[in-house]
Amino acid sequence: MHLETLAVHAGRTTDPQTRAVAPAIIPSTTFERAEDGSYPSGFVYARSDAPNRRALEQALAALEGGAVAIAFSSGNAATTALFSALQTGDHVVLPEETYHGTQLVATRMLARWGLQVSFADLGDLDAVARVLRPNTRLIWVETPSNPTLRVADIAQIAELAHAAGALCACDSTFATPVLQQPLALGADVVMHSTTKYIGGHSDVLGGVVIGREDNAFLQRVRQHQVLGGAVPSAFDCWLLLRSLPTLPLRVRAQSESALRVAEFLESHPAVARVYYPGLPSHPGHAVACRQMRGGFGGMVSFEVRGGASVALAVAAAARVFTHATSLGCVESLIEHRASIPDAPSDIPPGLLRLSIGLEHPDDLIADLAQALSIA
Ligand SMILES: *Cc1c(COP(=O)(O)O)cnc(C)c1O
Repeated sequence: MHLETLAVHAGRTTDPQTRAVAPAIIPSTTFERAEDGSYPSGFVYARSDAPNRRALEQALAALEGGAVAIAFSSGNAATTALFSALQTGDHVVLPEETYHGTQLVATRMLARWGLQVSFADLGDLDAVARVLRPNTRLIWVETPSNPTLRVADIAQIAELAHAAGALCACDSTFATPVLQQPLALGADVVMHSTTKYIGGHSDVLGGVVIGREDNAFLQRVRQHQVLGGAVPSAFDCWLLLRSLPTLPLRVRAQSESALRVAEFLESHPAVARVYYPGLPSHPGHAVACRQMRGGFGGMVSFEVRGGASVALAVAAAARVFTHATSLGCVESLIEHRASIPDAPSDIPPGLLRLSIGLEHPDDLIADLAQALSIA
């Protein structure tokens, strides 16, 4: 079945008792046993497994074409579980440019437990090969990446990882299963912050790990979910499942508008540089054309001339865009990345990151035009 059909139907069934078409929210933490002591529904206690979570996991596994999906209470909880499924002393390769929280989980939290971490420019396969060690067990891909939308070739990196006896995991949050299918390209594991496009409405935190196979590694991720306990609530799972049917439509509309916004910015004299994989000027454009389909995503970054003070003035002058962090939601956001708490030092001071929402692209372009003219 096509992704659009799966997005509507996966994880959903009409309730046999009430014939309710929309799923119920089942907040129960505990489930009654039968007279013989067995668990007839298959549920025991909600940290281990729960109806809304199971439905969400089935749907997300179907959308990514995976054998198993494991849902968490945030993207970072999913990332933590994924790294924690490795062994002490294992080595991982992270992209030079990754979501900041991913880097911090690896370097501030798990390095203390013996995780070895190297960074490499994933656009340069020789550079990746150079940092590999005999104990490399995972190469982490993030594509397109935060915040300058670098594109990494998932198929090539997966091949490199497998030749080295390592897994390839892909943070596909910016692309969503609509635009990119890392498992089909050779990755072993996909991670999403479902807080972003999958939730899509700035009202739920969540994360997921999806495996091509339900093997020992994924079972350790599952163990981290069940025993570590960073599980999403019934309502969170219900909200996320509620958002899935519109995901393909939202992401395609956001991608189309993002391309128009990127083209507008590229032609603007106050803009020094635009980062969008859909522009032929983007260094990752050819790879993005190969491995993404139906669009290049709703995230656009650009640098204004004049540095941080001008960038902050543009963000403040925007009226339709909200100056706030996060992404993937129905409302458009603009963010000055260099001034976020704990910002990595290599973010260009004049960089603004846009998350394109579902407003009319003409209104978004008009808003950026007036904000850039004021600044
Ligand atoms: C937001 C984000 C995360 C972390 O997810 P949370 O839900 O905030 O914990 C990881 N990767 C990317 C690319 C993100 O945008």
